[in-house]
Order: sequence, then structure tokens, then C-alpha cells
Amino acid sequence: MDKILVIDDSKMQTNMLNAILEGDYAVTQAHTAEEGLNYAREGDFSLILLDVVMPGMDGFDLLKKLQEEVVTRRTPVILITSLNDVEHEEQGLTLGAVDYIAKPYHAPIVKARVNTHIKLYHYRRQIERQAMVDPMTGVPNRRSYNCCYASKWQDAIRLKVPISLCMIDIDKFKVYNDTFDHPAGDKVICSVAKIMESHLRRSTDFFARYGGEEFVAIIMGGDTDDIFDYLKMIRREVEELHIPHAEAVSQWVTVSVGGVTLIPEIGDDYATFLKIADMMLYDAKRFGRNQVVWANKKMEQLREKE
Ligand code: GH3
Ligand code: MG
Ligand code: MG
Repeated sequence: MDKILVIDDSKMQTNMLNAILEGDYAVTQAHTAEEGLNYAREGDFSLILLDVVMPGMDGFDLLKKLQEEVVTRRTPVILITSLNDVEHEEQGLTLGAVDYIAKPYHAPIVKARVNTHIKLYHYRRQIERQAMVDPMTGVPNRRSYNCCYASKWQDAIRLKVPISLCMIDIDKFKVYNDTFDHPAGDKVICSVAKIMESHLRRSTDFFARYGGEEFVAIIMGGDTDDIFDYLKMIRREVEELHIPHAEAVSQWVTVSVGGVTLIPEIGDDYATFLKIADMMLYDAKRFGRNQVVWANKKMEQLREKE
């Protein structure tokens, strides 16, 4: 059942809205803007109904705050008020409210508008989800990666924790496609994605299909040796899937992995270190593929195979 947050200083008003909506929705009531803000931050609401005139922080101020915060800005807000003049309506809609209902209201209209906005909310969520997922493998796509890396980098700088940037590329995959055909190649890409995904350890770890037969991972925490071992394990697991490769290439399908672990500081540039991860991948290929090559911040190299 969708959750709706009703914020109004008048208990009578929140009770009335509750009575209109409660059969179809789980309604939470708040009677000050502050209380409403706290609920909105914690709960996963599909819609907020917000009174404009309240003592203390009013509905417009609260709406501004809700729009500013990452966790609340996606929740649609309908303003409910007796200020039914056009200036206030304009102000509310300009601040980002999705709709505006003037008191006194007619219950079936409130219900119909709420139903519509809940439906739109779900459509939007679905489209956003689809836009961030690679349809073939079901893992996050390049766009998702583009949205996430900067905040992870900033987190690592702020919290002074290690971050690892990692590139994974399937070896001699062009030959695989040429030998076994493209659909078979697609299956291999999915199998490799599944291995990576099944080994993510923390909710802060991120993994995406970077493009083609290449993947990118961002791992928070852990020192260079830990992460190097972790990627070696993943590389081995891919090899141990025992997917036959083209005879001229190797017995099994394998991946090469390059990466870097560092504690970034203010002024360090993400792109520089991603380039280092890519250089390590290039070295893994150059040294014979099916191996991990890792670097630390001083560019000292760890090699799986000498
Ligand atoms: P290397 O070991 O140096 O990485 O060699 P490679 O052949 O894997 O590298 P290259 O970049 O030359 O070729 C990558 C191949 O990956 C080319 C392309 O046919 C294949 N590929 C990219 N995306 C897909 C895909 O979505 N499905 C399939 N089946 N193949 C793909
Ligand atoms: Mg490749
Ligand atoms: Mg490639």
C-alpha cells in the first residue's frame, strides 16, 4: 500500500484527509512542519499533502526544504490551503509542488487527484529505474555510473577512507564473438556481470557495465592488499565458470582486471585515477591477460602473475 504523509497544523484537517484516503493508502499525520520534515526524511512516501498556513515554519518554507534534500526531493507534494488566490497558487507550483488543492475541497476530487499523482509517481520511478539499468545484464549501466562516481569520490575525501577504482575487461572477446556468434557472446557478458554482482560486499560498493565487454567497480574501504585479493578471487571465479573460449585463444573465457586503491585528498582528480586504473588494465592485457594488476596512490604496482 502506498504511504501518504499529511502535514497540517489542524488535527481536524488531517483527520478529514485521513478519512478520505485511509481505505486506499497508509496515511501518516504530522501537525508541524518540523515533524513533517522528519517523517519525510525517514519514510518512503509516495505523496505528501501539505498545508500552506501553519504557525512557525509554513508550507512554502517546508516545500523549499523538501526540494533541497536528496532523500525528499523526489516525493511529490500537493499543497492544500484556503489561500485560494492565484499568487499563492503560482508560488506553490513554482516552488515545485505538483498540484494545488484549495479548501474547502470536495472529497472525491481530492481522491482523484491523489490517485493520479501516485500513478505518475510510479511511472516516473519505473522510467528512472529503467534508465539506470543495462537491459541485457540487469546491472547498473554507464548512466548510473555517471551519476554515482562523483559522490563516492567526495565521500572518500570527506571520510578519509580508501576508495578503489577498478576496470574489468573480457579477454579476446572479439574472437569469441567471431567463433561462437553474438548471442553466445551476450550470454558470456551476462555471466561475468553476475559473478561481479554476486560478490559485492557492502551497500556502498558499486558495479556497472561500462560499455561492451567492459565493467567498472567502485569499492569503498579496504586496503590495497585486501582489494587486490578480492579482485583476484573474482578473476579466478570467471575462469572457473569454464566457458570454452576459441581454441586459438585459451581454454576458458577469462577477464583482465586493472585498478587502483587510494585515500583521495581535496584536489585529487577522479579522472586521473580512473586513467591509472585503465593503465593497470592495459598492463594486465600486455602481461598476458587473465590477471589482476593493481596500483596504490604512489603508483607502486602489484602483479598477480610475474
Ligand atoms: P582484449 O583482450 O584486448 O580486450 O581483446 P577484445 O577482443 O576483447 O577487445 P576488443 O575491444 O578488440 O573487442 C571487444 C569486442 O567485444 C568487440 C565486440 O564485438 C564485443 N562486444 C562489445 N559489446 C558486446 C555485446 O554487447 N555483445 C557481444 N556479444 N559482444 C560485444
Ligand atoms: Mg576485451
Ligand atoms: Mg574492451
